[in-house]
Amino acid sequence: MTLKISKPHWISSSPMPHEDPITLKGKVKADIAIIGGGFVGLWTAIAIKELEPSANVVVLEMGRCGQGASGMNGGMLMTWWPKIIALCKLCGQGDALWLAEKTTQSIETLAAFLDSHNIDAELVTSGWLWTATSPLHIGSWKNVQEKTRLLSNREIFQDISKEELCWRTGSSAHLAGVYEKMNGTLHPGKMGSGLAQIARKLGVAIFENSRVKKFDKSQPVKLYTAHGVVETTKVVITNNAWAASIPNLSPYFVCVTSAAFATIPIPDRLKDIGWTGGESITDSQTTVNYYRTTKDGRIVFGKGGGKLLYTGAPRQAAFNDLIGAKNAINDFRRVYPNLADVPVDSAWSGPIDRTYDSLPLIGRITKSPHISYGVGWSGNGVNTSRIGGRILAGLALDIQDRWTENGLVGRTAKRFPPEPIRYIGGNMVRAATARKDKSEINGHKGYAFDRILSSLAPSGLEDK
Ligand SMILES: Cc1cc2nc3c(=O)[nH]c(=O)nc-3n(C[C@H](O)[C@H](O)[C@H](O)COP(=O)(O)OP(=O)(O)OC[C@H]3O[C@@H](n4cnc5c(N)ncnc54)[C@H](O)[C@@H]3O)c2cc1C
Repeated sequence: MTLKISKPHWISSSPMPHEDPITLKGKVKADIAIIGGGFVGLWTAIAIKELEPSANVVVLEMGRCGQGASGMNGGMLMTWWPKIIALCKLCGQGDALWLAEKTTQSIETLAAFLDSHNIDAELVTSGWLWTATSPLHIGSWKNVQEKTRLLSNREIFQDISKEELCWRTGSSAHLAGVYEKMNGTLHPGKMGSGLAQIARKLGVAIFENSRVKKFDKSQPVKLYTAHGVVETTKVVITNNAWAASIPNLSPYFVCVTSAAFATIPIPDRLKDIGWTGGESITDSQTTVNYYRTTKDGRIVFGKGGGKLLYTGAPRQAAFNDLIGAKNAINDFRRVYPNLADVPVDSAWSGPIDRTYDSLPLIGRITKSPHISYGVGWSGNGVNTSRIGGRILAGLALDIQDRWTENGLVGRTAKRFPPEPIRYIGGNMVRAATARKDKSEINGHKGYAFDRILSSLAPSGLEDK
């Protein structure tokens, strides 16, 4: 069957619409307006209402809440422990440790939070296996494992034998790996509609199909949509890769695609191969493979490092990366040759807002401190958006505490070159990285030229 890009599995399997959309019409006043109704925007809105129930909070979403990257991802809840080296470099050991611990606590407490609001997002906390599928990738985690051991005084990344790894993943392609116990997966579509439901219940006004076309930085700020305007004291920008059209932010991240697909339900086949524990899995390629199972027994398998997009708001190219989806399917068949006959049910792609160090940009716009931003989640935003939301809520409410005063907030970040050098050079780096990864999977180091060029790529989900 010819592969087509379709609606993400998570969106087609969510009970939609979660509410009839309300579009902004006329003039509305707010204390805080949030641009973007993805996980970051919704967690921010919820955290503001938890901290200050009387705050008048508005979310403006150009489509439906949770249907941007938040409805397209792998649903893997990850911590910042794999980024501990970059975090330490950026914030110092104290803040790095504090932030990484917060991401673990966020997963530990998520089930109780969702239960308290009667939301079923199919949360499973069965841990994450960081693996090597090439002999050249064995031990990719060593530096991170040592650093976390040193900082946390515990074994966050547990060694796991090859035999155990093979039976837990159901594939002998996994040659070695480590296990992070407090990690999980969820159903992103149900999570997005659930967070929107919670925000509404707390009194947040959510306007959908209401794209912010322009805003001025004056005080109060006016945010203009096609049919209305919000006049607000504070603004929080949480519109992911679309923030590339904001000059203050665009030098610091690039937009790349990631493609994923879902198989048809195969619970019996999963039982046969032994992948029944619900663990999520990644390999150690730069163009990382990420995969997990679902409640109804599907495999969702994705691949990072797809197309690089020319700077600006993500265009159609971000959502129809057929080549990326084919690459993900080929990798799936390599890792699970015994499932090669399993049909693909749906395939999709979406934008990733990637910074150089793969840590987000959170802070206030210089000279406009009433406007905060939280973008650049770099493919690790499903869990960390909750931490980001709490920080952004503190910034919007002018709270001074460790959430708002740590080394991540208002950090400096490495700039990408301007266009067209960014696009041309970036594509050369991307192509070299793909060739290097392919060679490594086949057990060769690849050309020195490719290795040198690919070393210029932004760091990935994990520090290696
Ligand atoms: C294919 C794929 C796989 C991924 N896998 C994982 C994973 O397994 N684990 C993980 O942690 N992360 C993953 N991610 C990243 C993760 O999805 C995001 O970091 C996370 O969902 C946070 O998203 P967000 O709220 O920043 O962005 P979004 O969910 O994209 O929300 C931004 C919202 O802003 C809206 N918007 C944009 N411009 C405007 C405007 N002008 N006016 C109004 N609204 C506007 C958009 O419509 C969108 O809904 C993946 C991403 C993709 C694309």
